[in-house]
Amino acid sequence: MPQTLSPFILHCVRPYKGAAFVFVLMAIAAGFWGPVNAFLLKQIVDAAKHAPLKDSSLIVWPSVLIVVNFIVLDNFTWRGIGLLNRWYQPLIKNNILSDTFAYLTHAPFRFFQNKLSGRLSNQVTLLADQIESILEVHVPHFLRGAFLFMAALLGLLSVDVRFFVVMTIWFVVFFVLSLLMSQKLVHFSDKHAARESQTAGQLVDGLSNIHNVRLFANSQYEVKRLSRYLGKAKRAYRQVRGYAFWLYALQGGLIALMLAGMLFYLITLYQQGQVSIGDFVLVMGLSVDVGHMLWFTMGQVDAFNLAKGKCKQSLKALYVPCEMKDKAGATPIDITKGVIAVQNVSFAYQGVDTVFDGLNVVIPSRQKVGLVGFSGAGKSTFVHLLLRFFDVCSGSILIDSQDIAQATKDSLRNQVSLIPQDTTLFHRTIMDNIRYSCVDSSDASVIAAAKKANAHDFIMSLPQGYQSFVGERGVKLSGGQRQRIAIARAMLRQAPILILDEATSSLDSITEHHIQESLQTLMQKQTTLVIAHRLSTLQAMDRILVFDQGKIIEDGPHDALLQQGGHYAKMWQMQAGGFMPTHQKLVSPRAPQCLQVCGASFKVEAIA
Ligand code: ADP
Repeated sequence: MPQTLSPFILHCVRPYKGAAFVFVLMAIAAGFWGPVNAFLLKQIVDAAKHAPLKDSSLIVWPSVLIVVNFIVLDNFTWRGIGLLNRWYQPLIKNNILSDTFAYLTHAPFRFFQNKLSGRLSNQVTLLADQIESILEVHVPHFLRGAFLFMAALLGLLSVDVRFFVVMTIWFVVFFVLSLLMSQKLVHFSDKHAARESQTAGQLVDGLSNIHNVRLFANSQYEVKRLSRYLGKAKRAYRQVRGYAFWLYALQGGLIALMLAGMLFYLITLYQQGQVSIGDFVLVMGLSVDVGHMLWFTMGQVDAFNLAKGKCKQSLKALYVPCEMKDKAGATPIDITKGVIAVQNVSFAYQGVDTVFDGLNVVIPSRQKVGLVGFSGAGKSTFVHLLLRFFDVCSGSILIDSQDIAQATKDSLRNQVSLIPQDTTLFHRTIMDNIRYSCVDSSDASVIAAAKKANAHDFIMSLPQGYQSFVGERGVKLSGGQRQRIAIARAMLRQAPILILDEATSSLDSITEHHIQESLQTLMQKQTTLVIAHRLSTLQAMDRILVFDQGKIIEDGPHDALLQQGGHYAKMWQMQAGGFMPTHQKLVSPRAPQCLQVCGASFKVEAIA
């Protein structure tokens, strides 16, 4: 997707070259009718002066042509432009919306972590709206203006080359001064657009966190915070309008000066008998046309600058660094066994310390592996690298001996199922949400998957069963219900590798017990990685990898690790069937603290 405005507009219009060509021709034609009328008026006036009675056709025909010109030709071109807009603008706008959406769906994970999704969707619609107005309003008026000016120059040349020269010099002065001043106007317009976009971002942030706003009774605080951004937007707006005021005043003055100069010069030449009364009418008509056109076009330039500023902001916000593109010649990965080999992998998030430095581990086919460690140890990063949400900095990850960096991302993600910690759902029906993992599945397979995930009963208890809508991001369902939908998705997909990221953490113990059975069945056929804080859920794993500060410090089955009496054994004792502390500090011997587990307090020093 082009990142600058002109190439972007050309990219949007390219599929409709033929229509664009006709559109430009019509806009050019629209520029000629005014000067043609002035020329016809000159014919009428000259004929009236020289042969008023002898040949009235010299007056009648040009008059008829003026009427035809105005009613038919002028009208025809603008209606033609209107019809082309009516037909092609929605196509162009839809293309912008769908292309930009498709482009964003390939953006790296990091991109969405740094941007508010509401703000992104604002930027997408803003871009489409502004380009629509540039193509529909500004482009035809600018083209018309340019060709009206050229036709006027030709008309002036036909009367006397001096009028042509005067008009050309005046226009150069007008153009250069306008251009110089409008540079600053563009700068102010960009600033104004940026301020408006920031304000929109704040609105989205506030509204998407409305729960927090209410919970902390911070409505006033949020309004006050927003008013700071509104204040900046207001000042930026006034700056643009204030500067535009002086620019228009200058331009208006120059146009008035040009008209007065032309009039004075015409009177002088007329008195000297160098121009006819018809020439007088023609030159004045053309000068008024040019003045009027410039006056109108300058107003358009202002709106155009504003639209351009907004488009630039949107393109900047939507720009996705292309670090995560599939490599040239990337091929689909084919996973059958699900053997994972992590070879000498190093990785760091942008601007953050290294997470992994030369990590090595091999996970055989169909092995069930638990990943444990304190918060920040690197477990999620490990699975994110497997799914290629991020690319490794060095080393490689092989699945069934194929380097995932050389494979297409879509093929990889089609064969690795992830059940995340916090499942968000589309505001669609439950049936559609489960089917999302395998969009061609029948209703019967969706229902079978839901039954296996222990979700069928709660779904049937909803008023519309599988056809119930779940609300934005799935807010109408509880965390546990959303997780069961996510598990049903994985059941439906049957991918050769399954990753569970705290997948049963939101479930009550009875539901968890039921689901664990289903998960055991699911895991039989797949290589499975399970991130869990509740260590009791990992006892049945073939193997447990203990992460600490980006390193695997212990590796083995549950019993062996307990016997080893190391890090895992300490965590196990600490949990005593409950939850693990979230941070290593809690077990620091230098900082004895109390750990609340299910209402009971433990002095952590005793076990550290
Ligand atoms: P865990 O899953 O074990 O809690 P993570 O893999 O989430 O640990 O985090 C490992 C380290 O990477 C932590 O220091 C964390 O702060 C950092 N980290 C995680 N995600 C990001 C991110 N998107 N950007 C920058 N740093 C991150």
